[in-house]
Amino acid sequence: MKEIQLPPELSKNLSDIYAAMESGYDRVAGEISLTCEGCRDNCCDSYFQHHTYSEWAYLWEGIRTLDAGRLNRITDRAKQYVAESRALLAAGERPQLMCPLNEDGLCALYPHRLMICRMHGVPATMTRPDGRQLRFPGCFHCQEIVKEKYEQETDAPGMDRTELFKRLADLENELLGGKRHLFPRVRRTIADMIVAGPPRVAEPFCAR
Ligand code: SF4
Ligand code: SF4
Repeated sequence: MKEIQLPPELSKNLSDIYAAMESGYDRVAGEISLTCEGCRDNCCDSYFQHHTYSEWAYLWEGIRTLDAGRLNRITDRAKQYVAESRALLAAGERPQLMCPLNEDGLCALYPHRLMICRMHGVPATMTRPDGRQLRFPGCFHCQEIVKEKYEQETDAPGMDRTELFKRLADLENELLGGKRHLFPRVRRTIADMIVAGPPRVAEPFCAR
């Protein structure tokens, strides 16, 4: 098995994409007046799976900067998360468990958090490659604000994710040597990624 690492230029490209996500988020959140300050929820307990080797490798760039004590604590929580989430899924329930990277309400790897952590909250739109238009209403707090402020939900501004997703897909394809379709699909929570270690694939899949 060979580890997939982001070469420095792709790591920089990914951090640029993340920065664009953040500024798009901030613009829409500002227009709606959405802020996480004082929110009674903490969406770090939402169940999300992530789908790219690029983000997995980028997360591990951050994990490698943690000191041993912190990493051990996070790994223990991640193992517990994986066991509990599997049991809940097997019982037909959607897990609602705190992300193992959340420490005292704050993200222990904020600069390395994944795409969905940067975009969850504000309303968003996306045009799929087949032309289908999607709209996401935002978090529950955002939906409350939108209901108060706008006549219809679709009157609220939305962050267009299309271009950002395309940039991430292009980066992923570049990382995988243009053979993305040949690699095993990634469907992992952050806890899964921590427990599994950095992304590794069998030698025949190695791209770079
Ligand atoms: S994204 Fe929404 S639900 Fe999550 S903390 Fe912020 S305001 Fe609250
Ligand atoms: S990575 Fe950080 S921001 Fe994302 S869910 Fe975990 S603790 Fe929250």
